[in-house]
Amino acid sequence: MFAEVLVNIVVRQVDKSFLYAVPEELKNKVQIGACVRVPFGRRVADGYVVGFKSGQPAEKVKEIIAILDRGPLFTPSQLALARWMAAYYLRPTVEAIQAVIGPRLKATAYRQSKEYWPITQNGLEISSSLPLTPKQTALWQVALTNPGLSRTRLTSLAGVSPALIDVLVKKGLLSERVRTGPASDILLNKAPKNEVLVLNPNQKAASDLINTAIQAKNPKVFLLHGITDSGKTEIYLQGVQQVISLGGQAIILVPEIALTPQMVDIFFARFGSTVAILHSRLSAGERFSDWNRVQSGEARVILGTRSAIFAPVKDLRLVVIDEEHEPSYKQEENPRYHARTVALRLARQHQAVVVLGSATPSLYAYSRALSGGPFRLLELSHRVDRRPIPEIQIIDMRQETKGGNRHLFSQPLQEAIQDRLNKKEQVILFLNRRGYATFVFCRNCGLVMKCPHCNISLCYHANNNLICHYCDYLLPAPSLCPDCQEQHLGYFGAGTQKIEKEITLLFPQAKVLRLDKDTVSRKNAHRQIITTFQKGEADILIGTQMVAKGLDIPGVTLVGVINADITLHMPDFRASERTFQLLMQVAGRAGRSIKGGEVLVQTYSPQHYAIVAAQKQVYLDFFRQEMMVRRKMNYPPFTRLCRLVLSSTGPDVAAKAAGELGAKLKKALNLTPFQEDQIDVLGPVMAPLAKIKDRYRWHLILKAKEITILRDAAQIALSWYEEKTVLKRKVKLVIDLEPQNMM
Ligand code: ADP
Ligand code: ZN
Repeated sequence: MFAEVLVNIVVRQVDKSFLYAVPEELKNKVQIGACVRVPFGRRVADGYVVGFKSGQPAEKVKEIIAILDRGPLFTPSQLALARWMAAYYLRPTVEAIQAVIGPRLKATAYRQSKEYWPITQNGLEISSSLPLTPKQTALWQVALTNPGLSRTRLTSLAGVSPALIDVLVKKGLLSERVRTGPASDILLNKAPKNEVLVLNPNQKAASDLINTAIQAKNPKVFLLHGITDSGKTEIYLQGVQQVISLGGQAIILVPEIALTPQMVDIFFARFGSTVAILHSRLSAGERFSDWNRVQSGEARVILGTRSAIFAPVKDLRLVVIDEEHEPSYKQEENPRYHARTVALRLARQHQAVVVLGSATPSLYAYSRALSGGPFRLLELSHRVDRRPIPEIQIIDMRQETKGGNRHLFSQPLQEAIQDRLNKKEQVILFLNRRGYATFVFCRNCGLVMKCPHCNISLCYHANNNLICHYCDYLLPAPSLCPDCQEQHLGYFGAGTQKIEKEITLLFPQAKVLRLDKDTVSRKNAHRQIITTFQKGEADILIGTQMVAKGLDIPGVTLVGVINADITLHMPDFRASERTFQLLMQVAGRAGRSIKGGEVLVQTYSPQHYAIVAAQKQVYLDFFRQEMMVRRKMNYPPFTRLCRLVLSSTGPDVAAKAAGELGAKLKKALNLTPFQEDQIDVLGPVMAPLAKIKDRYRWHLILKAKEITILRDAAQIALSWYEEKTVLKRKVKLVIDLEPQNMM
């Protein structure tokens, strides 16, 4: 018997399997998915078994040296998915396998998740009689008050090194146990609320169609379009309930676990220990344990972020993608997959149903759900409780400026905030930009302070530092202009920190919280801020898009959007779509209260159709207008895109390579049987983010109706690149099929 082994080296040239003989003593242990050590050329390499061949091979083959892991790392069905993904995104198979098994890979060193329990009573006596260092005492105190914590959490709470835990275990103070339940850190603060709701007729119609398809193993794709509070989550829950009663498994994807604590709570409350949580913030051990619970079938409900789509399910019946339109479903590093695309493929493999849910579906999904399209549209058109949706008012900032108001806050917004403070109601203020000022500019010589590595304006932060939001480069803010040495540096472009400052100046009596990337760096900080606000312990919550999502706070009766134009004018063809989605999402945060809600949107572009449609809160208005623009410009969903990014540390190197590639593509595409109008090659041009982390960036954009044509063209680019042995050392080529990010 011979095993086909994929060597675990991500290099295109070795992206094929090699045959190895299986030694007698390993015969029963080598199976598909096994991780093995093999001789490779003159060295030894690790690899994965991907198949078997019997019969004598033509060449002499070497023997497998050893098996590295106990069980198989992937199932044949996961292998099929990885192979498909590699071909789809033009990446080496082994890289796709690594993505699929990612969490297990790292777990080889950290086999099981451990939790630590203080040895009570007895332990207390021992501790008083034992000489403990101050650090050991601190650790002991934390363990005593928080039994059952994970290793990472215990060390971070106590502020000590993990080795100290082992010391206390040796001393007999702590007992170490293997974790069996779901990661407990997630379970903190769970709010049980587990009665199954009686669906209203609207929900029931949608739910029946979904559940019938699940029951019949009819692999349909549903687009569940429903405004915030229309009861989508309850439909997901009842679909999952159906899956569990059939003995199957369901995957529920959410854009970001940290942004959806309420979703986690609801799923735990409803489905308890059959839930597994998979996301990237877990430690390797935590992920490994939940991964195993999925593989053994113990976990039936997998709730997680995009990589949870690779969970080793056995009997998948349902995939739910909540907030289907969110950009975070796309992975921005290799393999650059979109979880929605992978989900559609996976579901077909398992005859599972897919439910895409959104209040503001992507143009991709909605255009496919129109009559005749491959997706089935399910609409929930009003809120569960039939309360009116909050009113949205657009504030024309040009009028404010003309009227002499140069504040960040328009007169109506200031009055509305004051009104809520008087009534003891809560306010959310949204600005999609963190930091204090987004650029620093010398009024004397015109210099703009930029990151030397990224050519991006440095943002001023309230701790008196200039920070690059791309590479975290940090520079203490100078008092003089580094160019002209004058004292005329000014700070422009407000961020959330500045909003916070101005608000505390305007409303000194208000209690203010801020929620953005800078305030949530500590684990659980996000949750704490939300809980504090939820309890009514603050009046105003200021934040970036983190406040836009999933918050359900009844006390909030006013939402203010400080500047809707930030996303609107990005150099990306999806700028309008993102703006509309964000505004609708933020608006959804208002009026969860019986007192009703109001949304004020400040903008300098009040007539823009994305703003107007958001004001009316009519998705179809936006969809129709945006489709006209996309059709005219021949952008998705009317066409498909592939982006080729060339980058190099030399300013001219990337430009030259991009020029060469462009010429090569244009020539090659004319020679092949492609019709001229089947594919377009745009560029090369400098990427909107022209320099990031010391690399100069150029890009080409390929447009074609058919994905196969696009992939053929990308393959030409790839072959061109692979042949350029010298250039390859200096230039990096990224192929981004169906890109979400055009910057
Ligand atoms: P969405 O996901 O569309 O924003 P949710 O499913 O979260 O909406 O529902 C909004 C609120 O309405 C939740 O508090 C939920 O518990 C409640 N709800 C949903 N469906 C029903 C129902 N059929 N009867 C009563 N309350 C419901
Ligand atoms: Zn930088």
